[in-house]
Amino acid sequence: MGIPISQMWTVATYVLGQKLRGRKRYPLVLMLEPLFRCNLACAGCGKIQYPAHVLKQELTPEQCFTAVEECGAPMVSIPGGEPLMHPRIGEIVNGLVARRKYVYLCTNAILLRQKLEEGLFTPSRYLTFSVHMDGDEQQHDFAVCREGVYQVASEAIREAVGRGFRVTTNTTLFDAGGATALRAFFDEMMKLGVEGMMVSPGYAYPKAPDQASFFRERLKTNRLFQMILSNRRRGWRFNQSPLYLEFLMGLRDYECTPWGNPTYNVFGWQKPCYLLQDGYVDTFTELIEATQWDRFGRASGNPACQQCMVHCGYEPSAVNHTFGSPGGMLATIRSILFGRYRDPNAAEQLTDDAQQPHGPMVQLGLTVEGQPIDSPTEAA
Ligand code: SF4
Ligand code: SF4
Repeated sequence: MGIPISQMWTVATYVLGQKLRGRKRYPLVLMLEPLFRCNLACAGCGKIQYPAHVLKQELTPEQCFTAVEECGAPMVSIPGGEPLMHPRIGEIVNGLVARRKYVYLCTNAILLRQKLEEGLFTPSRYLTFSVHMDGDEQQHDFAVCREGVYQVASEAIREAVGRGFRVTTNTTLFDAGGATALRAFFDEMMKLGVEGMMVSPGYAYPKAPDQASFFRERLKTNRLFQMILSNRRRGWRFNQSPLYLEFLMGLRDYECTPWGNPTYNVFGWQKPCYLLQDGYVDTFTELIEATQWDRFGRASGNPACQQCMVHCGYEPSAVNHTFGSPGGMLATIRSILFGRYRDPNAAEQLTDDAQQPHGPMVQLGLTVEGQPIDSPTEAA
């Protein structure tokens, strides 16, 4: 398990506290986007296409602190754009650490080494660099549309780990990229000394008009994750809910919890989730009270939600299951203690996969012929 006990304890007591108060909708992780600018231009990124006047905008540290306090979530994820391009990112991160929030700074790591050398950050159990790595060197450089980025990011990870920082990786999975290569990539990341890894399928607005196609897409995603996450190697650690990983493998089903990871950015609080943009409101209270939550999630029938299995919607459901029932807690403990997930069928599929030619790589949810994504994907 790649999550420190102190952090698990904070989350557990927070969730139980919310349940004791009878709060139906509560946030777990605030997705704080202090800017949309980036020093990469990945194909399919839904953030960097904003017009120049939006890309120039930034949240101030004060706006960030107000949002964090309003929201009250114990964890704050800082995606972007590239947060290390924010001129006051040190102030923002240090202010959140001082408020004892568990901060995950999501970065493509191009600037990480430089910022570490400048002494912008101090190691803390509250601060984790979550480095965007979409697979091995070939997969990652293809995904970010620039050669050499994998090497730069690997060096930055080594540097940050060496300086005593908590470092994780976050990987958005690409179809046809090769399950075997991804497993080798996990080995590589563990060798670099990361605390844990995070994986998620990408999100793409579905073009398929019928439920059967949606169902096929989800099965395809399940099959890929079965190959990758069954028969796990002993050394692998994931910085995620074990039950969410079981959901990705098709071993359990969840409904989305879109309020679990609310998003705040230069436009305000984004309705209803990190992926969809159904308007913005000024306060977190308004977000919770004014959003028509029953219009979202798979059960709503909303086409935009039918293929989605992304962590920002489903990981809160898994965490809620863990702390919301003895069965969920037992399943989590069982996974932590014994979770190798032996599966001869998955091993056989993996052998076949290794013999297949792979490529072109396509983000899960898109077809080779598909049009560019018209809704935001997970950014770095
Ligand atoms: S299912 Fe996905 S797209 Fe729909 S509300 Fe949940 S997280 Fe957002
Ligand atoms: S996906 Fe992330 S790293 Fe790539 S351009 Fe978008 S914000 Fe930058």
